[in-house]
Amino acid sequence: MRVRWNGGELTFRLDPEDEITGRAADGHPVKLATGSCEIRGVPGDAHDDLWAVAAWTIVAPWTRRRITFDRPVSPELARVLHDGWGVEAGPVGGTPRMAGGTLALSYSGGADSVAAATIFPEAPFVHFRRVSHPRVPNRWPHYRSDVLAKLAVQTGREVTTVDSDLEFTLAEPRPGYPEHHAVAAGALLLADRMDLGGLAFGYELGSRWLGGDRYLLRYTPDNLMWAPHGAWGRLFAAVGVHIVLPVGGVSEAVTMRIALESPLKAQVRWCLRGTGGPCRTCGKCLYKELIQAAVERRPMDTPITAARPVARKWQEPPPYGGQEMIEYGCARIPGIEKTPFAKAAEYLRATEESTAWLDHCYRPAIEEIPPAWRGQVTEFMAARVGFMDEAQARRVETWGA
Ligand SMILES: [Zn+2]
Repeated sequence: MRVRWNGGELTFRLDPEDEITGRAADGHPVKLATGSCEIRGVPGDAHDDLWAVAAWTIVAPWTRRRITFDRPVSPELARVLHDGWGVEAGPVGGTPRMAGGTLALSYSGGADSVAAATIFPEAPFVHFRRVSHPRVPNRWPHYRSDVLAKLAVQTGREVTTVDSDLEFTLAEPRPGYPEHHAVAAGALLLADRMDLGGLAFGYELGSRWLGGDRYLLRYTPDNLMWAPHGAWGRLFAAVGVHIVLPVGGVSEAVTMRIALESPLKAQVRWCLRGTGGPCRTCGKCLYKELIQAAVERRPMDTPITAARPVARKWQEPPPYGGQEMIEYGCARIPGIEKTPFAKAAEYLRATEESTAWLDHCYRPAIEEIPPAWRGQVTEFMAARVGFMDEAQARRVETWGA
């Protein structure tokens, strides 16, 4: 792989051993659409290693054995790329970037992100906004990135919106981040200007410890994407931008509750389709309504029936993506037997007791937050959530066993 930056425009060219269908860190196959993209409004004088890591968040899936940057990378960064991916990176030279003192939040506007923002009320936001690509037609015009960006500004926080078409480098399965970390490409390039020492993400217990939505039912202490000692965690640390997961120890039930009680409640939006509010008809709206109804202890309010295609997977037996939250919802929602989750509830047979662990914080998630920010999360969790006891922590550690 050969990469070149021209201002915020990245062009990359595959080496003979590279392939146009690569694999992201989560194992998902991704097909390349085009070898260029742009990240707008980023400073020209960012540290050389920041340019390299920003590029890597985009080109990693298609890189097999080596990557040649247009400026030197520090020996430390080259080593992390080698250890994590088996990739030879060069040219090598210079010194690594030192960590700054500020924690920013990669803010999406969803409930998890709002919960993370509530824990760090002083953290500035960096918001990624999808814009169209000059050479790739946009067949997904329903995706309302403009609405999300407007809501981010309405939070009243210090918001830096980074416009980018980088999601269009991906042809299949659809436009999206080549790696989950590409959402941070703009934040990385802004790290010197913002004096960043950490970047917080809204990834919660399921994504960090229960394998997320694509590794079904597996305890993942060594999560390649989000563990501090995983390949991506080490890579971000090598440029002084530690990955911080303020809600990494709590489930989506807890992040939902925190978000609904937050001063930012009016700006919470997880659906990318509606303009005046959530669309209520997509799969994500259905899943989030299940969680919200469970948290609010009320019947579900949805126009979706079991016969609709978006509800099809809940008519099949488990395992399900985000199964812990399906169990949580089925155990708590009055009249679940009259919803699209009736069949799932029968299969899962979850109870309030069997899902009580999902109302508390998993302590090891706190321990992996860098010391500079750990205290604030600990205090918040102690005051507002409470910690899992040993038996509950074992539920996390035996998930899928
Ligand atoms: Zn929706």
